[in-house]
Amino acid sequence: MSSLPDIPELLPWHAPLWRQWLKQHQAGRTPHALLLSGPKGLGKQRFADYLCQGLVCQQNTGEPCGVCQACRLAAVDNHPDVSRIQPAEAGKMIKVEAIRQLIHCSGLTASTRRVFVLQSAEAMNASAANALLKTLEEPAPGVVMILITAAPQWLPATLRSRCQVLPFRPVAQDQAQHWLRGQQADVDWSDILAFTGAQPLLALQAHAEGWLDAARQTLQCLMDLRRQGANPVQAAKVLSERSVLTVIHEIHCICSDMAHILVADGQGRLFFPSWKDLVAQPVKQLDMKALLSYIDQLNDLRRQLPRNPNPTMLLEKLLIDWFRLNR
Ligand SMILES: [Zn+2]
Repeated sequence: MSSLPDIPELLPWHAPLWRQWLKQHQAGRTPHALLLSGPKGLGKQRFADYLCQGLVCQQNTGEPCGVCQACRLAAVDNHPDVSRIQPAEAGKMIKVEAIRQLIHCSGLTASTRRVFVLQSAEAMNASAANALLKTLEEPAPGVVMILITAAPQWLPATLRSRCQVLPFRPVAQDQAQHWLRGQQADVDWSDILAFTGAQPLLALQAHAEGWLDAARQTLQCLMDLRRQGANPVQAAKVLSERSVLTVIHEIHCICSDMAHILVADGQGRLFFPSWKDLVAQPVKQLDMKALLSYIDQLNDLRRQLPRNPNPTMLLEKLLIDWFRLNR
């Protein structure tokens, strides 16, 4: 026999949620729809993969055995009774045709169990969500729909109310640190976790992609604009070589730290604790009211940005306003 494919593994912080699920499933109270809901970087996808495999496993205990044919097919995403739906590209919508296809498949009940996984469920457009809602109102026997989302507020309330929610919450700091040190012992994870929040997979990604170095570039740019009267338009051009949404998020974190230093002398949570002294430099000259209104403006921009055709221009305006804030 060829070597066994890797079974998805649960992450340590999944244990309580998994026990709760398994108990319910083994008691015969398997719901037709589950909503795996919570911030990014907690392994919701991995949990869904494991759960899927447990549902189709021929041992039928709810826990994947990892050796039966069903487990092996599910592990390589080739099980005929497991279907996945996701946006065709990141940031795109899930359209009604994809949901109709799913509904069609869920009616083919040759199998005792069919599992559907909807990744980024919040990306369903209104008609897709409506079509799914109709199926959830009259579910076919043996069908389990697993919806995954980091933005449950974008799903219609009627749809959410048809699902059993499995809530994923940021893990305890020390558990996140411990797990991350197990992945890579030579990294100082505390600064990365301060920035990402205790979402360990997000922290891994941040480390691999150098998010802190990038944020440092943004901080330097704000300091240059303040001190040397550098050109905001030129600065926007340089910064917009990266995702503008990311840059705005970084500016938001930096300004939030400034506000925090201004009111609470930096006690409590900062996004960039190691840069506290540098971030604190402009604080004495800043007007608190103006800073808070600038932070509000950042929040508004983050909401508008996905629909804005010219993000570089938004960033320019933001940096010009920062420049003025420091005069
Ligand atoms: Zn199995």
